[in-house]
Amino acid sequence: MLIGITGTPGTGKTSVTKLLEKERFYQVIHLNELIKEEKLYSEVDSERDCVVADMDRVYDRVLELHDRSYPVTIVDSHLSHHIADIVIVLRTDPAILRGRLEKRNYSEEKVKENLEAEALDIILAESVEWCEKVFELDTSGESADNTEKAIMRIIRGL
Ligand code: ADP
Ligand code: MN
Repeated sequence: MLIGITGTPGTGKTSVTKLLEKERFYQVIHLNELIKEEKLYSEVDSERDCVVADMDRVYDRVLELHDRSYPVTIVDSHLSHHIADIVIVLRTDPAILRGRLEKRNYSEEKVKENLEAEALDIILAESVEWCEKVFELDTSGESADNTEKAIMRIIRGL
């Protein structure tokens, strides 16, 4: 079973999937790292300080890495809803998200762009459009441990 953990940057995908990775049950693919390491992009957008992923190559690579000896494989990325049919969309109140993003060395423009995307439910809307099953999980005011437990409950219920 392939499950995407998606959401606007800063909503907690990598923190929480690093916790899940410690459980034997889950294989975790940190997609953004993989895209950079293996240069699975077609373009570098230096103005917006990001890369444009080559989704065909990314998808093929995920299928190659997908280890079926694990009951569940999790893809950690704001792109994972383009890959998995079942996704959990992490959400964060924009006021709280601002604090998390400001701790990164993001430009004010990039912070605003992400806050706006979160406020407008962009990733949720894309997920609903592309995926079979979509779950939403609010991480505002929650610990990463509690979010991890909530994700495990969702997966157990599938
Ligand atoms: P993403 O991978 O979605 O960009 P990160 O996991 O890199 O997000 O960063 C999220 C930040 O928010 C981290 O500093 C993390 O400690 C913090 N955080 C606060 N609450 C939570 C939560 N409930 N789940 C996950 N991360 C959380
Ligand atoms: Mn991340």
